Amino acid sequence: MVFAVVLLGAGAFFTVSALRLRRWALIGHAEDRTNDPATRTKNLLLIGIAQTKIMRDGFGGLMHALVFWGFCVLALGALEILIQGLVDGFSYAWLLPRPLFVVYVLSQEIFCGLVLLAVGWLFYRRLVIKPARFAGDPVHGGDALFILSMITVLMVTLLLTFAMEIHAGASAAGHILSAPIAMLLGGLSSDAAHVLGRTSWWIHALGLLAFANYLPFSKHLHVLTSLINTWYSNTSGPGRIGAMRPMDLEAEDAEQFGAADVEHLSWKNLMDGYSCTECGRCTAACPANITGKKLSPRMIVVKTRARLTEKATVLDAVGGGTATMEQQAVLDKNLLDDWITEEELWACTSCRACVEECPVSIDQLDIINELRRDLVLMESRFPEEAQGALTSLERNGSPWAYSAADREAWTEGLDIPTMADMVAREERPDILFWVGCMGSFDDRAKKITVAFARILQAANVKFAILGQEETCHGDPARRMGNEYLYQMLAKGVIETLDGYQVKTVVTFCPHCFHQMGNEFPDLGGHYEVIHHTDYIERLLNEGRVPLNTEHGQRLKVAYHDSCYLGRYNDIYDSPRNSIRKALPVVTLVEPPRTKSRGLCCGAGGGRMWMEETEGKRVNVERTEELLATGADTIAVACPFCMTMMTDGLTASGSEVPVLDVSEVVAGQLRV
Ligand code: SF4
Ligand code: SF4
Repeated sequence: MVFAVVLLGAGAFFTVSALRLRRWALIGHAEDRTNDPATRTKNLLLIGIAQTKIMRDGFGGLMHALVFWGFCVLALGALEILIQGLVDGFSYAWLLPRPLFVVYVLSQEIFCGLVLLAVGWLFYRRLVIKPARFAGDPVHGGDALFILSMITVLMVTLLLTFAMEIHAGASAAGHILSAPIAMLLGGLSSDAAHVLGRTSWWIHALGLLAFANYLPFSKHLHVLTSLINTWYSNTSGPGRIGAMRPMDLEAEDAEQFGAADVEHLSWKNLMDGYSCTECGRCTAACPANITGKKLSPRMIVVKTRARLTEKATVLDAVGGGTATMEQQAVLDKNLLDDWITEEELWACTSCRACVEECPVSIDQLDIINELRRDLVLMESRFPEEAQGALTSLERNGSPWAYSAADREAWTEGLDIPTMADMVAREERPDILFWVGCMGSFDDRAKKITVAFARILQAANVKFAILGQEETCHGDPARRMGNEYLYQMLAKGVIETLDGYQVKTVVTFCPHCFHQMGNEFPDLGGHYEVIHHTDYIERLLNEGRVPLNTEHGQRLKVAYHDSCYLGRYNDIYDSPRNSIRKALPVVTLVEPPRTKSRGLCCGAGGGRMWMEETEGKRVNVERTEELLATGADTIAVACPFCMTMMTDGLTASGSEVPVLDVSEVVAGQLRV
């Protein structure tokens, strides 16, 4: 009866806590996250249950996964214990056939042992190894050690309970750990064994209830929310997964664009806060943080949760009444500025390394993007240097102040038709070659443009460009938070493309590729958009590119993954395959951070147009890493990466050349 009262009280307390957390999360705005249930379920099974993301973390990840799987298996045992509190002597043996019951007992013992081993290692890691990514955790400093201690107590008391049952004459079948413990304690009198057994049972049962009720107040709340969070994570498929949240600028009741405080974020952004384990994997992968900037994606999530707690607690206290001066002061604060600074937000390169690393599928970048939108759209606050790019986008349709008349200057002597030329000849190209602003105006990038055009010509691809009709699609403005400018430019481009009934677009800029393929659909632009590395690989596989492979240069190439090609669109192989096919004697070397773990060049998220005055330059960090591979050539597949790598190499005093994949292939063309 005592236990029944305790259980009821614990259940009621837990329910109140859970409902409070739900109510707080719903302070955020509504957002439908129920589409595509098949992908959601796949994510749940792979990321949530199979723990695929956490397993990226080597031995530490395996230990953490063991604790999780142990929890799942031991939850069955926990239920048995709780029922025993109400029904004396209850055992699954009453319900299960004997062999199945022994298997159940064995599973409990095995996972109990594995969890103890894993917890021991996690203690060792926290107290002795102290990985850098755990540093700077101001919110829940000792929480992890407390939770690890609680788990240890739960495991030990479970084994002792079993052992004392065996001491009292219960079957030892399946008890591979507690049977030896019973033997070790065989000298205890039956009274002492009884007291020890009952005490262990009570500590275990009360520990379970205390543990469950502590979670809502702890960073280990993720134990309860991570599976739900993973199911609700962004799943719109490869490519679309990195698309920025659509924004209806013409909504009649829209008074707020972007987020200044927690109620401007969605309930999912707020639930992300509940699910953060504060593991720091995101921050350890963040190029801004690695190079000494203040931005820490972990702290973006942790601060969002802390602000929600701060504000929602006061809202609860005020209820329908009038706030005191102190309460009003808290309500008047904002997530932006009072918790997260402008400086942190502008340091982000939008590389998605944080999102990729997060084991519980949190989208830190979504919060950053929403806060940036408020800064720009509501308050006109952005770095001074960005002003030039935004003004030029508005005036010239390009982030650089070049005249549209110069867009096709690179075609001189190359006999490249524009769409208008083709229409005049009543012809239709197979593809539109989208050149992009860098490819049109930047002297180094123009060489990539020419190289790719030569490949297309050599492969007899019928293609055309827009020439002077091409303008920026507005992606830089969108990444910098200026959604108005973005939508204006993007809609203009869509109108042009639709006017020519364009179906297939090929581009060598991953930013253009991502924007036009994955974000245009939200504005009604639907095209097949192909990155040139995929297209070149396709042409090579079809044997359409005449290559001089007998005289291939003997190069040692390190390929640098572009974030918008790799993490945003899952394209890792075609650039490497194209290089291998064009240069049969090439040696491809990989830096330590590669493919989905590749380090950003530092240009994304509008950083291309901003000064980098704090800490080490991201491009220098990356080029040093690439040079350490011993490569004699660095290959890229993005004009932004080309600029950043070239600058980084210059800063490092290196003369190693940087080539775009198309330049590698064009260099081998049989002319
Ligand atoms: S997107 Fe990249 S730069 Fe921005 S917070 Fe995440 S890891 Fe850091
Ligand atoms: S956001 Fe994800 S990766 Fe970053 S600290 Fe939280 S749980 Fe870890």
